[in-house]
Amino acid sequence: MPYTEDRSTWFEGQGLWQHVPESDWKDWTWQLKNRLTKLEDLERYMTLTPDERAGVLFAGHKLAMAITPYFFNLIDRNNPNCPIRLQMIPRAGEGQLHAEEMLDSLGEDEHSPVPGLVHRYPDRVLFLVTDRCASYCRYCTRSRLVSNAQDYNFHPEYEQGLRYIESHPEIRDVLLSGGDPLLLSDRKLDHLLGRLRAIKHLEFIRIGSRIPVFLPQRITPELCEILKKHGPIWMSIHVNHPKEATAELRDACERLSFAGVPLGNQSVLLKGVNDDADVMKALVHRLLRMRVRPYYLYQMDLITGGAHFKVDVRKGLEIIQALRGHTTGYAIPQYVIDAPGGGGKVPVNPNYIEKITDEEVVFKNYEGRTFRYPLTATPVVEGETVEKPVKLHEELHG
Ligand SMILES: *Cc1c(COP(=O)(O)O)cnc(C)c1O
Ligand code: SF4
Repeated sequence: MPYTEDRSTWFEGQGLWQHVPESDWKDWTWQLKNRLTKLEDLERYMTLTPDERAGVLFAGHKLAMAITPYFFNLIDRNNPNCPIRLQMIPRAGEGQLHAEEMLDSLGEDEHSPVPGLVHRYPDRVLFLVTDRCASYCRYCTRSRLVSNAQDYNFHPEYEQGLRYIESHPEIRDVLLSGGDPLLLSDRKLDHLLGRLRAIKHLEFIRIGSRIPVFLPQRITPELCEILKKHGPIWMSIHVNHPKEATAELRDACERLSFAGVPLGNQSVLLKGVNDDADVMKALVHRLLRMRVRPYYLYQMDLITGGAHFKVDVRKGLEIIQALRGHTTGYAIPQYVIDAPGGGGKVPVNPNYIEKITDEEVVFKNYEGRTFRYPLTATPVVEGETVEKPVKLHEELHG
């Protein structure tokens, strides 16, 4: 059945937490303190399936469970296949290891000159400034690091990272990630951005964050002022399903935009969540309405215990093909595979080209019709429009 939604409304409100004063609900520290982190917390509000129950009990060994009350409201408690539920509530599959899965599937550790900094591309670095997130995604690429449930010994100390960037003039772009950089206090973030801005060779500073999605309350006017002060700061948020696009997220994106923060979105292609062209189309349309430009659609990394989320790459290509030409060009993310073992992001695209020779390129359009674009410059036959230019040439040059 095609996915449909009411495009005229945006989910909002306190949902299950009507009894909480609005001032608490809107306070991001209240949201963090009241996260659902234990089996009992979930079972107070919903009946888990045996698969989920086993997953929750296992989660403490892999990636901790945490869900903000705000985001928990988006879960359909009567539907085990709810796309938000799938992303947030662990399943037994997390305990199943497959041969091709890796703890550090992107080979980030080998490309780390100092702890918490990944220098894979010559001109830019990934700077992991914290190991905590507001909520934990069950398919997280860095589940080996974040939440510290695996005892991986990751302690972000950003002084070393800053010194590395300062001493490498070839680095012109830094991507702050983690964990979630927006969990740092305003004071720390202000300091960190100030230090980065002071590095003359650094041209581009961006933040990867799922905080606007899990904890829109964190996007305070004070935080926006800091981002504005050190701007331009670009930001990639992370939305996977149109249900996540609430009125609160929309308003948080507006505050960020008005502070001069250009917004992009990264989605991970996930089985049962967004592996469907109608869902993806609804998502990208919501994003545009929130001033967010879809940036990447990721093929899921080969993380341990992630097989139940894996989608066939051909399905991903089909989704991109269903978007290109069929909707606004701005709405279409670039589908990429982050090369296992550490080769960087590689674009994967539907193939529109049928044939390419020295003479022409033959290709199909979004409707499947065939077109040709000649690559040669064929002289026009004698006696036609050439006459005039030839005469002119003779007059000028005898
Ligand atoms: C994704 C990533 C970047 C940024 O890549 P862009 O394509 O520029 O967005 C940089 N470093 C690492 C290690 C990354 O994984
Ligand atoms: S927000 Fe990002 S880093 Fe944190 S758990 Fe989700 S995917 Fe991982």
